[in-house]
Amino acid sequence: MPTAMPPEGATTLDALRRAAATCTGCDLYKRATQTVFGEGNSRASIMLIGEQPGHEEDLAGRPFVGPAGRLLDKALAQAGLDSRQVYVTNIVKHFKWKSQEGGKRRIHEKPGRSEVEACRPWFDKELWLVQPEVLVCLGATAAAAILGPAVRVGTARGRALPSPQGIRTFVTVHPSAILRIPDDAERTAAMRRFVADLRRAIRAARRPPRATRARRSPATPRRAAR
Ligand code: SF4
Repeated sequence: MPTAMPPEGATTLDALRRAAATCTGCDLYKRATQTVFGEGNSRASIMLIGEQPGHEEDLAGRPFVGPAGRLLDKALAQAGLDSRQVYVTNIVKHFKWKSQEGGKRRIHEKPGRSEVEACRPWFDKELWLVQPEVLVCLGATAAAAILGPAVRVGTARGRALPSPQGIRTFVTVHPSAILRIPDDAERTAAMRRFVADLRRAIRAARRPPRATRARRSPATPRRAAR
């Protein structure tokens, strides 16, 4: 099966981003405008992981700049964190979509497991470079990719979970799910719960576990030379 192949020599986020721009690791690049790589603070203690770019992100070439991104920024602010302090990315880097209304609209289509797996090497290398204290999976696709297919957002949210990467991981909803709630009161309640989830992750990121501190001892530089 084809897969993304980040070059071994790409040891900075900028180099990785440039390499990902020409990725043909699965078919999604054929119908998307461009690769949408992660961005943000390269030394962030919190990495937020979504599913894939949406329509606006695909056109802009930047993650979380559409309505869901604006809601995320608002929620982060309410939780006490500037969005410039985090690193945001998606588990899949190209927009998968289907057309609606005779081709006038591009509607999000959930990426398949093979596409998630094909794109995974980009995420793994981003993670290796940023080395966050805490991961926050936004929605089921990111949660399944990080924690395994059995994880359910409804039961997993609200506490730190150990990830196979050894990084404390929180699971919450994708902000687009909040935007889709038609009832005002229910949407407000969902937003409140989302902010509470982000607050827990922020608190955890400010309290590095002993094991993590050891991992980043002077003998073990925070990240490879960039
Ligand atoms: S979705 Fe990922 S693996 Fe597929 S072409 Fe885009 S960057 Fe490459």
